[in-house]
Order: sequence, then structure tokens, then C-alpha cells
Amino acid sequence: MDSVITIPALGDNLIYVYRYNRNDVLVVDPSDSASVLNALKQRDLNLTTILITHHHWDHIGGAAELKKETGCKVIGGDGRRIPGIDQVAEDKQILQFGNSGIEVVATPGHTSTSVCYYVQPSNANENGILWTGDTLFVGGCGRLFECNARSMWESLQKLASLPDGTLVYCGHDYTLENYEFALTIEPDNQAVKQRLSDVRQGGQSVPSTILQEKTTNPFLRSGTPEIKAALKMPRAGDTEVFAELRRRKDVF
Ligand SMILES: [Zn+2]
Repeated sequence: MDSVITIPALGDNLIYVYRYNRNDVLVVDPSDSASVLNALKQRDLNLTTILITHHHWDHIGGAAELKKETGCKVIGGDGRRIPGIDQVAEDKQILQFGNSGIEVVATPGHTSTSVCYYVQPSNANENGILWTGDTLFVGGCGRLFECNARSMWESLQKLASLPDGTLVYCGHDYTLENYEFALTIEPDNQAVKQRLSDVRQGGQSVPSTILQEKTTNPFLRSGTPEIKAALKMPRAGDTEVFAELRRRKDVF
């Protein structure tokens, strides 16, 4: 039984349904209600909770309708800008769903109140699951709409410190474009070449892993000598290098 069901929506958005207990599920960033209701009905699942990573319309669009249809609860990091919110998620808080403990990780950067959700592994043989919204993408990261580069860099560092095997599920499928950009930065990075070729052949974007992101995502690699050399900034601080990469990606 797959515990995470991925539902593509609105072109490049990714909605995730997570089964935590027999037929009980939560949904992360339901941009569209119809496709979620359809998935619930097909599998006879009971929606108890909506987790929101940030307030942008393409992450909350279906929440009101889902709440109306199912009576589920809405949890997110922004008490002011998420309509119908029932509980404000606090940094480091553990939300309990059945046997799953889900940790809230505050990740300001894309927005000032962005959060990620980390399902802690329940035993040593299991990998954790991380929903990153528009903070970390496969091969990329979100734009800086409300915060500076330092905040985003620090948020990305928090995610990078999670175990290597952690499964990463992001809010949009921008993977192809992200790896095309990554290759312009590191033309000799074999892992990036491999990923780009996989994606071009229709390989799945999600889940990625923290290890894969640390190996192929230029933004997470801002602190490495390889990226600093590539940008001809050998002595620059990590944040400065990250900010330069973000500037380049904004006009890519
Ligand atoms: Zn967003």
C-alpha cells in the first residue's frame, strides 16, 4: 500500500494525499477540490485534515470546498492569510496522526510564513517523508517573494539536515527546467546529467530524496567549492552564492 498518492493539478501543481491510518487521510496543498474528492471516492478514503504549506492561491484553492464537503480541519502556518484555517502550525510542533508524528518545520523564504511538514520515520528501516511546498523543489527552490536570501538559505539548510533517505515531495513539477538550469551551472556534474536525462525520458519527479537534492540541486549546493568555483566566487559566503544563483535562475 502506497502511503502517498500524488495528484497533478492546474498544470504543474502537485497535491499529495497521505494515508496515515487504514482509510484516514490528510491532504497537502489541495489546489483543486474536484481531483481530490475523486481520489477519495475511488479509494473509499476519509479526509480528516488539510495541511497547507503557504497561503498562495495555487496551494489553498480547493481547501474551502473540501472542508465544506468533508468537515475536515485546516492547518497551516499563516493564521491571517489562509481562509478557513482551524489551527496555526508552529515551528517544531509535532502533529499526531494515528501512529505518524508530523513535525512542522518553519521555512520562511518563499513567503514569510511558509512551513514544511516532515513525517518522522516510525522505525529505523523507514524513511521520513517531507512536503516542501514552494520552499524546496526537485532540482530547485522557490522564488523569494517576502524574505531575503539569508532566510531562504537558512530554511533550506534546515531541510538539508534531515536524513539523506528522506523522501521529498514538492509543490510543483518544475523539475525539467530546474535541471536544465542546474546543468548550465555545473556542466560536468554527472548526477545532474543523469537526472536531466531521466526526466527528459519521462521519469518521475517525485519523490526525490534529501541525498539526491544535496548531490544535484545547485541551490542546496551553494556552500560547496564546486558551485563557488563555477560562479567564480571562491571566497564568497554561502548566502552570497545562494543569492547569486537565485538571481540567475530568476532570469533563466
Ligand atoms: Zn507559492
